Amino acid sequence: MSDLQLLMNAVGMLGIAGSIALGIWAFMKSAEAKQLQVSVENLRHTLDEMDEQAKLVVRTDIELNKAQEELDKKITGLYTLQTLSRAISSTLDESQIFSKIEPSLLSNLGLEKAMALSWDATLRTFNISMAVGFSDVDIPSIQSLLESGKGHFERLISEDQSFSSISASLDQEFRNTLCVMFKVTSFVISPFLPKEGKKGLLFAGASDPDIVINEGDEELIKILANQIGQSLENARLFEKTWQAHQELENRVEQRTKELSHALEEVNRISQRKNDFVSNVSHELRTPLTSIKGYASILLSNKLGVIPEEAHKRLEKINKHSDELVQFVNELLDIARIESGRMTLKTAPFNLKSMIDEVGDMLSVQMAQKQIVFSAEIPDNLPEVMADYSQIKRVFINLVNNAFKYTPSGGKITIRVHTTDTGIQVDVADTGCGIPEDALDKLFTEFYRVDIAINQEVKGTGLGLAMVKHIVEAHKGKVLVKSKVGFGTTFSFTLPKSTYL
Ligand code: ADP
Repeated sequence: MSDLQLLMNAVGMLGIAGSIALGIWAFMKSAEAKQLQVSVENLRHTLDEMDEQAKLVVRTDIELNKAQEELDKKITGLYTLQTLSRAISSTLDESQIFSKIEPSLLSNLGLEKAMALSWDATLRTFNISMAVGFSDVDIPSIQSLLESGKGHFERLISEDQSFSSISASLDQEFRNTLCVMFKVTSFVISPFLPKEGKKGLLFAGASDPDIVINEGDEELIKILANQIGQSLENARLFEKTWQAHQELENRVEQRTKELSHALEEVNRISQRKNDFVSNVSHELRTPLTSIKGYASILLSNKLGVIPEEAHKRLEKINKHSDELVQFVNELLDIARIESGRMTLKTAPFNLKSMIDEVGDMLSVQMAQKQIVFSAEIPDNLPEVMADYSQIKRVFINLVNNAFKYTPSGGKITIRVHTTDTGIQVDVADTGCGIPEDALDKLFTEFYRVDIAINQEVKGTGLGLAMVKHIVEAHKGKVLVKSKVGFGTTFSFTLPKSTYL
C-alpha cells in the first residue's frame, strides 16, 4: 500500500471518527434541549399553580375578612344585647323598662329605629310604649296604620311569631306595609309575652338600604324581645309582692295596734282586779284579826272559864281564822307580785339548811302519816342569792302539797342538783298523781284538779300560782311530771346568776 493510500485511509478514518463525534455531540445537544424544554414546561406549570394559589390566597383572605367582619358584627351584637339585657333587667319599674333601649345601643346593632307596641287586651288597641329614631310626624300615621292592620299584629302575638324583612314565610304585602309604615328597608318584629302584664311587639329596623338584616340580627331582636317580656313579668311580680308586703305590713301594724290596745285593757283590768283583791283582803284582815284576837282572849280563860264545848268551838274559830288569814295573805301576795309591787329581798343562803328547816317543820305530821321524808343534796352545792322567805314559801307549798296528796306509807323526796344553767330542785312524791289534761292548768289561780280526793283535801288553788310567781321573779322555771297512781314531781330551777 502506498503512502498516499495510507494517507487516504487515515483521512477517511479521521472523517468517520469526526462524523461519529459530531453525531454524538449533536445527539447530546438535542437531549439537553429536550431536558431544558421539560424544565421550562415544569416551571411554567409551577408558575401556573402558584398563580392559582395566589388567587386562592387572595380569595381566602377576602372571605376571611368577610368572616371577621361578620364575627365582629356578631360580637358587637351580642355585647350590645348583653348591655341592653342588663339595663332592662336592672329596673323593676314597668314604666322604666323601655326607656333603657337607648339609640346609641340600637345603632351598635346597625339599626336606627325601634318601637315597642303594647297590646291592651281590654280595649283591643296597640299603644306605643317606646319609639326610637322616629320623628313626631311619624307617630300618628304609625298609630293609625296600627289600628287598621291590627289583625296582623295581633296574630304575631297570639301565635308567638317573629317576622323580619328576610323571613321566607312572610306575606309580601304585610312586609311592604311594614316597610312603608315604619319607613325602613329592613326590619325585625318580635313579640314580648310576659305571663303577667301587657304583651306586645318589639320592632327594630333600618332605613339605610345598605344595611341588610340577617338571621343573626333576627335572633338578637328575638332574644331582646324575650328579655323585655321577662323584665315586664318580673316588674309585675315585684309590684304584686310589694303590694302584698305593704298589705301585710298594714295588717300587722293594725293588728299590733289592736293587740296593744287589748293588752292595755287587760293590764288595766288586771290592775283593777289586783287593787280590788288588795283592798278586799286588807278589809278582811282587820275583822279577822279581831275575831282571832277575841277567840284567843276567850280561850285564855281571862274572861272566865269557858265550857268544854264552847272551848272546842272557839278552837275551831281560831283554826279557821288562821286558815282565812293565810288565804287572805296569799291573795295579797299574789296581787302584790302581779302588780310588780313585790320586791325580792335577796341575800346569800344555803339551800340545804332551808330544806332541813322545812323537813323539821313538817316532821311530826310526816311521822304521824307514816310518810318517809328524805333529801338528796350534793355536798358542794353553792349558796344561792335569793329571797330567803319567798323560796321557803315555795318549798313549804310544794312539800305541803306532796304531803296532802300522798297516802300513808308513801315517800316524799327532795333532790337538788346543779345543771348547765343553774340549780334544779325536785320535790317528788308517791301520791295520787295528776291527770295529764290538768297539768297545764295547775299554775292558774284558784284552779283545783277535779278529782275525788279534793273533796276531802282542803285548798284554795292559790299555792302553785304563787310558787310560779315567786320562781319566775327569780328568773327560774317551774316544771311538773306526774303519773296518775304513781306520784308527782314538781321541779323548780334557779338560774346560775342566783348562786354564788
Ligand atoms: P291547793 O293545794 O290549795 O288546792 P295548789 O295551787 O297548791 O292549790 O294546787 C292546785 C291543785 O294541784 C291541787 O288542787 C291538786 O289537785 C293538785 N296538786 C298539787 N300538788 C299535787 C301533788 N303533789 N299531787 C297531786 N296533786 C297535786
